[in-house]
Amino acid sequence: MRCQRCGERPGRYRRPYAGDAVCGRCLVELVRDRVFREVRRWRWFRPGQTVVVAVSGGKDSAVALRLVLEYLDPLPGVEVIALTVDEGISGFRDRCLREAERLVERLDVRWEVVSFEEEYGFRLEEVVEETEHPACTVCGVLRRRLLNARARELGADVVVTGHNLDDEAQAVLMNFVKADLAQLSKLHPRVRPESEAVVPRVKPLRRVPEREVRWVADELGLPYHPDPCPFASSSVRSFFRRLLDEMEERLPSVKFGIVQALDRAGPVLAEEFLKGEVQRCERCGEPASDRLCKACQILEELRQSSSRLRDRASSSARTSSEER
Ligand SMILES: [Zn+2]
Ligand SMILES: [Zn+2]
Repeated sequence: MRCQRCGERPGRYRRPYAGDAVCGRCLVELVRDRVFREVRRWRWFRPGQTVVVAVSGGKDSAVALRLVLEYLDPLPGVEVIALTVDEGISGFRDRCLREAERLVERLDVRWEVVSFEEEYGFRLEEVVEETEHPACTVCGVLRRRLLNARARELGADVVVTGHNLDDEAQAVLMNFVKADLAQLSKLHPRVRPESEAVVPRVKPLRRVPEREVRWVADELGLPYHPDPCPFASSSVRSFFRRLLDEMEERLPSVKFGIVQALDRAGPVLAEEFLKGEVQRCERCGEPASDRLCKACQILEELRQSSSRLRDRASSSARTSSEER
């Protein structure tokens, strides 16, 4: 079948929600147009800004970085910095870091790396067993805090992340079924962070289906690591991913519809449910909904459980020496 847009090249990529199949070159143009439209719609970028792009070594952030650079190229005085968080996941993250490095070299962007080990004193894989929280929760909370803190130090006006349409639809649905409408409203591009200390985050790929992001990454020959995180499969999120994928087979535009609902309802929900009473974390001063922020709560739990583990280790050492 020929591409239904240009009629010249083979239509390799099917877009069920659009009812067509397009060639690689047309797909890249369509995705780029949609991303640029989204960026203009929400007025995310201005001349003179410092733009930090969170780069993981995966396909999403690779495409986000590449397209944001293209968009920002004509804007005067903009500095773009790629920022990678090394959570400490043996094998997986090392390969991601190598791909991230290849990417920033190819695209000629300043690159910064921050690690859990340097910041928190442990690697993610050392602590996942010691907490009752799912690995993705621990990782997400600690990564977000590190990303925000470093972006702020770098003088960032905005942080770009690679979240795609699938990620966004999953997040909306997860917050919806938890009836957490305050959290849901925060996903809206116009709802500002509750605190000056949080650098606004933007998601240029929020209307691009995940599979199209992968195709674009391949068409553009961007280096990325293809495997999912080894901790990801057990998460609640992967249940919602499967659910949405099944819904999509019946209703090809379901993910767009969910994000569209967010775009319409987000500001109203924020008005109604986001009370804007932000406390400061007693320990680190970051915004918190409790006495301690989520990151400090998790760090505190980890500190306690590892000292319990240490105690247990030393008492069992004592017991075995007494037995002898
Ligand atoms: Zn074409
Ligand atoms: Zn804190």
